[in-house]
Amino acid sequence: MGQISGQTIAFHHYDTVIVGSGAAGLNCAVHLYEFMSRKGVKNPQERIVIVTAGLGLGASRMSGSDKQTYYKIGTSPDVPDSAEEFARTLTAAGCCHGDLALAEAVGSLREFYHLVHAGVPFPTDSMGAFIGYKTDNDPFERATSAGPKTSKFMSECLQKQLERYGVKIYDNQEVGLLLTVGSGQYKRIVGVVTIDKKAIDRSNYAINVFLGRNFVFAAGGPGELYKASVYPKGQVGIHGLAFKAGLIGENLTESQFGLASIKFRWNVSGTYMQAIPRIFSTDATGKDEREFLADFFPSMGKMATNIFLKGYQWPFDPQRIEGGQSSLIDILVFNETKRGRRVFLDFRRNPIPDLSKSGHSMKDFNLNDLEPEANKYLKRAGALRNTPLERLFAMNPLAIEIYKENGIDLYSEPLEIAICAQHNNGGFAVDKWWQSNIPRTFIIGEMAATHGVKRPGGAALNAGQVGGLRAAEYIVNVYGCPDDGELEKLHNQPEIKQQLSQFVAGLESYKRSAGLVPEEVIEEIQSRMTTSAGHIRELNDAGKALQEAVGLYKDIQKNGFKLQGRNGIIRAIQAEHLSLTSVAYLKAIVELLKFGSGSRGSHLVLSEDVPPKAGGIKPGSAGQIHPDIINKATSKALRFKPENKELRDSVLQIEYDEAAPDLFRCRTIQVRPMPADRKAFEPAWQDYREGKIYMSYRI
Ligand SMILES: Cc1cc2nc3c(=O)[nH]c(=O)nc-3n(C[C@H](O)[C@H](O)[C@H](O)COP(=O)(O)OP(=O)(O)OC[C@H]3O[C@@H](n4cnc5c(N)ncnc54)[C@H](O)[C@@H]3O)c2cc1C
Repeated sequence: MGQISGQTIAFHHYDTVIVGSGAAGLNCAVHLYEFMSRKGVKNPQERIVIVTAGLGLGASRMSGSDKQTYYKIGTSPDVPDSAEEFARTLTAAGCCHGDLALAEAVGSLREFYHLVHAGVPFPTDSMGAFIGYKTDNDPFERATSAGPKTSKFMSECLQKQLERYGVKIYDNQEVGLLLTVGSGQYKRIVGVVTIDKKAIDRSNYAINVFLGRNFVFAAGGPGELYKASVYPKGQVGIHGLAFKAGLIGENLTESQFGLASIKFRWNVSGTYMQAIPRIFSTDATGKDEREFLADFFPSMGKMATNIFLKGYQWPFDPQRIEGGQSSLIDILVFNETKRGRRVFLDFRRNPIPDLSKSGHSMKDFNLNDLEPEANKYLKRAGALRNTPLERLFAMNPLAIEIYKENGIDLYSEPLEIAICAQHNNGGFAVDKWWQSNIPRTFIIGEMAATHGVKRPGGAALNAGQVGGLRAAEYIVNVYGCPDDGELEKLHNQPEIKQQLSQFVAGLESYKRSAGLVPEEVIEEIQSRMTTSAGHIRELNDAGKALQEAVGLYKDIQKNGFKLQGRNGIIRAIQAEHLSLTSVAYLKAIVELLKFGSGSRGSHLVLSEDVPPKAGGIKPGSAGQIHPDIINKATSKALRFKPENKELRDSVLQIEYDEAAPDLFRCRTIQVRPMPADRKAFEPAWQDYREGKIYMSYRI
């Protein structure tokens, strides 16, 4: 315990402090314990701690889809696969480091079987083979699933293992500050400052300080950044705090967007779309039903096939729009919601033509009119049935069950959907051991920038597990676990005392009667991000949004917050660092648009905003969304810029810089290649014995 600025502060000391209790953080703790035990470290459970805002929060615990996917190296008895082939798939769409992709590939089965041993019920056939299927951007059948709640099962099984090991989890801890010492290349993170959400009141801030030698940040994606979001509520992340501590971001521009239900936040990928539900819109009150898709497809067969394909072409993909492909559906859904209309999936009825149009030529739905890919799939799945519900039930009854558990009966009501932010492929830069640019700080799970522009569905869970394994192995074998009393000395270090005093002063300042309202600030950030940093982007608009975001952050610094209610301090802390996070994301987006990046990954860039000197294309050479989707400004068909493939070999980095006009500096680096050196057994064994395998580089 210590006293700072009138607050009693509880200090805790651990060799390694993990922030976040999702599948990534829990798995890293399990591995740390196991590596420490193997090294003969006494009482490893006393050297590791998990600190989390909520054991029941986060994407792993709360999110999923029809059959949430785990993408691993193929385990089919008759389809050969290799780590290099797997890594090539991960890097195929560019902006992805080859060494990370190869490490994720090589570690894939080791981590998959680690989960199997922990008890995750991945299905096998009668010979014991783990059964696979095809997912988004996946040329092989590498995907598998334990059902809609795969990542929940992973988290639960790993948590049980940690309970058996006796590793402590501090729950209800909202991170408010990362303590640092030193500067430049000598900078180190030495502590995580939290507020105990259960113990806080207006005079006692219930501050905990977790001092450590090593840190693993596994706090997930910044889900609360977006208004239209399928991230679980309360998934805030710690990106803004991490930027302030000096961590470098990469690929922040590459968020994924797709169709999701909004009353209960859940992805409607896979069998939800393969069941081919009717998709219709209504006005804000639920009246005036319209078959809004029908006008944009030449036939019922084409429309129904594209609805089917949305199942495994789930994320919005600008390269799947032209010529009436499946991502045209995302655009059409978005256009409806933008007009203030609501969009629903109705599993009780097949798609229907737009009967309100006189002289419409679309035929009624007929399974025989589906294109061969859809027809064959449904036949093989035993799902050539009459209604979407029957087809969904035949393929995946658990997909119906999950909505039932959450108060939505697909047998009696339609399901409201929207285009939502779902995942960020970018995050913080890591080396091949998942160490960040600050030595002894590791980033894993969704917080780590290990994916490129596209990733196969399910690769996030694989990456989160492998990252935790790699970080744990490095920490124990390179940094060891000395018990030298160094951490105690930090309590009285002036740098630390000063940061803690400033933190307390910041909390005190929130008590003033004037200032911004945290909830309103968060609402403003979310609306701006969904409008200007979502799946449709324009340089001028993003530039304007960036200036507004910088203005908001500076306003918070100047005027502080006015608190409401018991939870006010927590929301104020979140609003402040989310505000900085949104500046970082918008700055990265603006920079990339200035490079003339074009439409890629899961976002589309409208062509009119491209200045020719930045490599923009001439009007008329861009892609056309659909002849009937009109740009109001030009009265011509809306066009979008194609991807600039020259940028595939580079990664955009971003770093906080208080003095920079937009608070961040950007630069591009070349992607690191996939290591191709393969040593013979004896020299490789020697490298292993001598610890040479841990030689790395600083990023
Ligand atoms: C709807 C949906 C469906 C998905 N489907 C798939 C899929 O099929 N396959 C796939 O591979 N991936 C999928 N993903 C992505 C995947 O689920 C996530 O990337 C992954 O679960 C992230 O795990 P994580 O451990 O990194 O973070 P999370 O599981 O998000 O955990 C974050 C942890 O950090 C804590 N935390 C957050 N902020 C703070 C803070 N400020 N202070 C303290 N603690 C904090 C949280 O409480 C939580 O414990 C999906 C995501 C969504 C939203």
